[in-house]
Amino acid sequence: MSITFIEPTARKVAAQQAVELFAATFGNQPHGVWSAPGRVNLIGEHTDYNAGLCLPIALPHRTFIALSPREDDLVRVVSELNPNDVGQARLNGLQARGVQGWAAYPVGVSWALQQAGFDHVKGFDAAFVSCVPLGSGLSSSAAMTCSTALALDDVYQLGFGGSDEGRLTLIAAAVTSENQMAGASTGGLDQSAAMRCSEDHSLLLDFRPGLTALQSATVEPCDFAAMNSELLVVDTCASHELSDGQYEQRRSTCEKAASLLGKANLREVADEVEAADDSQAALGEVLESLPDEVMKKRVKHVITEIARVPEFVKAFSAHDAVEAGRLLNASGDSLRDDYEVTIDELDVAVDVAREAGAYGARMVGGGFGGSIIALVPAGSSRSIAQKVADAFEQKGFKAPRALAAVASAAAGRDL
Ligand code: ADP
Ligand code: MG
Repeated sequence: MSITFIEPTARKVAAQQAVELFAATFGNQPHGVWSAPGRVNLIGEHTDYNAGLCLPIALPHRTFIALSPREDDLVRVVSELNPNDVGQARLNGLQARGVQGWAAYPVGVSWALQQAGFDHVKGFDAAFVSCVPLGSGLSSSAAMTCSTALALDDVYQLGFGGSDEGRLTLIAAAVTSENQMAGASTGGLDQSAAMRCSEDHSLLLDFRPGLTALQSATVEPCDFAAMNSELLVVDTCASHELSDGQYEQRRSTCEKAASLLGKANLREVADEVEAADDSQAALGEVLESLPDEVMKKRVKHVITEIARVPEFVKAFSAHDAVEAGRLLNASGDSLRDDYEVTIDELDVAVDVAREAGAYGARMVGGGFGGSIIALVPAGSSRSIAQKVADAFEQKGFKAPRALAAVASAAAGRDL
């Protein structure tokens, strides 16, 4: 079977589709349309909740929200995926985890803004149209919460959407919605990427607590063509069935390790290791002092992964695809062997991409399903993606899908 590439819908077209869905559902015209992108993280996986570094780009694939504010506390939401099912919730008296199903994501944003003290945020009607694959590790959830946050900021005139600094408040509301209303743990990478990335650039994010907007993000050029390469994403379409509680386990192991080491987070450990005369030996000593084998492996991943991020930035700015690919492979191997968040489909996709000529390939996102990225020679995405699809067919896996990643714009207003 020939592999399908998911093309991003043109912004004008998708915005119009959101208007039409809104009108068909609610019987009037929306106040406006906003959108936010999915993302891929080039490197720095499972580092955000360890106060570490990561390097996402925004995808050209976006989620669009047509929205009107309401005078009362009612929220009504509809998605193109199931246009006959309108989700409803009341904000007054709403508690954490008080909304079931996907509606928790958008409802949770208005709830989080109210919780943060923005009392004049009220209910709303909203219609969503999206070409971000769902549950594929490309952050359709953050595309939804961030587009909602930006829309609410605009219609309730909170004044945060217009600046990078202000967007931190909206990111916090999106994170709160996912963590506390949808019950999905997330460390902030996805929402920061959707809100702060820019076209033709990656975003070097630093998750140490207490940093200002300026200190927490650096814009880096992201020009795949300049190193004769392109970035292929393959969505394995493997379900996340086994992922129950795995993220929380990883997270709590990291927190426990940091506290055993007498540090606030593993980033502090990583910085000490990095500053040592012999980093390799320093890492060895840290691992030696930890009580169990599993914890050693998890900590090794986090510390080596944080160190790979600046190395990757350097390789990229030198247009060195071979070195960037080596770092992607090292990250991927570490996620497979030390962090243990891959599954067969991810491993096969990565192996096939590497054998088919990728400079480097690794799984992206939380793991246990979802997507891989591969840095590949320019013009070779389709043939490499096809080889992955052929291997999947042979193994009896579900057919994968692919998309071409180029560094795209953050959340913004469309209409
Ligand atoms: P990811 O963010 O990697 O795509 P998540 O599991 O975090 O995966 O989020 C996927 C969930 O977000 C979906 O199961 C659904 O509840 C919600 N969601 C995202 N986009 C949409 C959409 N366009 N319509 C309805 N629900 C959506
Ligand atoms: Mg998500």
